Amino acid sequence: MQAGYWLNGRFWTVALVLGACSAYTAEGAFVTEYVSGIMWAEPKIVEPGPIGGPPADATVLFDGKDLGQWNGGDKWKVENGYAISQGGGINSKQSFGDCQLHLEFASPSEVKGSGQGRGNSGIYFMETYEVQILDSFDNKTYFDGQCGSIYKQYPPLVNACRKPGEWQTYDIVFTAPRFDEKGAVTSKAYLTVLQNGVLVQNHSELLGGTFYDKAPSYTAHAAKRPLHIQFHGDPVRFRNIWVREIPPQALIAK
Ligand code: MG
Repeated sequence: MQAGYWLNGRFWTVALVLGACSAYTAEGAFVTEYVSGIMWAEPKIVEPGPIGGPPADATVLFDGKDLGQWNGGDKWKVENGYAISQGGGINSKQSFGDCQLHLEFASPSEVKGSGQGRGNSGIYFMETYEVQILDSFDNKTYFDGQCGSIYKQYPPLVNACRKPGEWQTYDIVFTAPRFDEKGAVTSKAYLTVLQNGVLVQNHSELLGGTFYDKAPSYTAHAAKRPLHIQFHGDPVRFRNIWVREIPPQALIAK
């Protein structure tokens, strides 16, 4: 709605739009701003920390000193600010649902074995859904089992591996599956994965848990479960592991 008034011998036009602003575009057209009407809460401030994090609101699961946040961590060797996998997998003491995870890993610099037998480990969300860790630098294996794959479900979009011994990053966004009271899946799990800053999984819809010996399938589980890092016989190094629980969008009213 528009109205106007005379001032200084000139007719001035104003727009009366409740809760909205009006403006002239660069081309001179008079437009009214679209306003959704949704009352969003103001996003809280998070100090992002140094490159590679951790951000101020992250849960630090390994800062280079000890694996006290992990069950089974006493089996692994910690030295020089990193942890070396050995003697079995480790499970976070805390459980997580939807989350953002940062993790740095390095395949053994001494190249041994081939295929799945070279620098194999893996990060499992909810102890069930594996993003593969493997030395896939000049090392062929089945594509849905190479580094950056969702094991036996999706190959990575590209092979973004660094050389054996070099530090690599994973930044992963995980959406947990949802189940109804009868145990049927109502919303599947999703994974988005950046390896060394390169997108290798783009909101991939999981077909279920990732298994070596059977097809993927869902079995109902708790809304939050631990993370698991696999030990697959290879001394893979890890450092700078942190996680952020993903909050729902904050609405005040609609
Ligand atoms: Mg693995």
